[in-house]
Amino acid sequence: MNMNRSFTVSNESLTRVEYARARMQLIEMRDALAATTHDLERIRRKQVEAALKKMDNGGYGICESCSRPMLKSRLLAMPYVRYCVSC
Ligand SMILES: [Zn+2]
Repeated sequence: MNMNRSFTVSNESLTRVEYARARMQLIEMRDALAATTHDLERIRRKQVEAALKKMDNGGYGICESCSRPMLKSRLLAMPYVRYCVSC
């Protein structure tokens, strides 16, 4: 097994640094949205919390619909994203 293998199964998976950065971003978003009462922001907070849970339990970066790894550029732009481009 490659020592540099990172957290998702794609060749394009996030490096450790990118993964840590995405995690930090998610935590900041979660905190910023903690007290919101706006519906759209509540939905976003749920997505953020779900992404953090996946980082802890595994499955982060995997599309929830087709189970394929998502593009790195997509994850970097939207670390809370749940589905790949095709889905
Ligand atoms: Zn998909």
